[in-house]
Amino acid sequence: MPPLRLPPTAALSAATAISRPALATATRRLTSITSHLPPTRDPSAIFWNTASNFSRRTYTATVAQLSEAEPAKMKFPGGCYCTKIRYEISLDDADKDARTSLCHCQNCKKFTGGPFGVTTKIPKSAWKVTQGDDLVKVHEADNGSGTILHREFCSECGSGLLEYGVGGFPWQRAEMPANAGDFVYVFYGTLDKPTDLPPKGEFFCSRRDNWMPEVPGIFHKQKIKE
Ligand SMILES: [Zn+2]
Ligand SMILES: [Zn+2]
Repeated sequence: MPPLRLPPTAALSAATAISRPALATATRRLTSITSHLPPTRDPSAIFWNTASNFSRRTYTATVAQLSEAEPAKMKFPGGCYCTKIRYEISLDDADKDARTSLCHCQNCKKFTGGPFGVTTKIPKSAWKVTQGDDLVKVHEADNGSGTILHREFCSECGSGLLEYGVGGFPWQRAEMPANAGDFVYVFYGTLDKPTDLPPKGEFFCSRRDNWMPEVPGIFHKQKIKE
């Protein structure tokens, strides 16, 4: 039986009030129900005829159950300035799994050439280079506290991509001793839509440039940990 076709997302949302990925999953399940029916020139017609025989409650419950089993990942693409390196971040729950923050330390100012650095902390497993992997260069240096800070950047245009400490930053060791090194810090401005992951806090406020006000509504730490 040929693959089923789904109507446009807007029509689906209006008709069923469920997400497209959830509906696609339900479609796969329903394909097994429709497979015993005689062939037709338009398989999607079979799907919709069969689907309409379900009560809304049964259908929604099935979709909810399937969605729970296979949650769709949220994708956040990005890349360097010259566009030769492209990446994708995949998160189960962006609000829980990502933390964007500003850092006013001297180290971040030097690397970014700005008054502060902005990075988005994500699990290392959520990061994937999708293009230009051979152009990624790594700079390693002791950050002054014994941690070897790694910064990855594009060897063609110089854009920073991400940073991480091997051995773990002091605050990583305190927060997640078993997992130090399992997180990377992506340079916020390289995301295609940075505002999808807005900042939750500021670090090293003691080093904030005196002309720059606090960002309101987020946490503020004078150093890394207080
Ligand atoms: Zn580049
Ligand atoms: Zn910093």
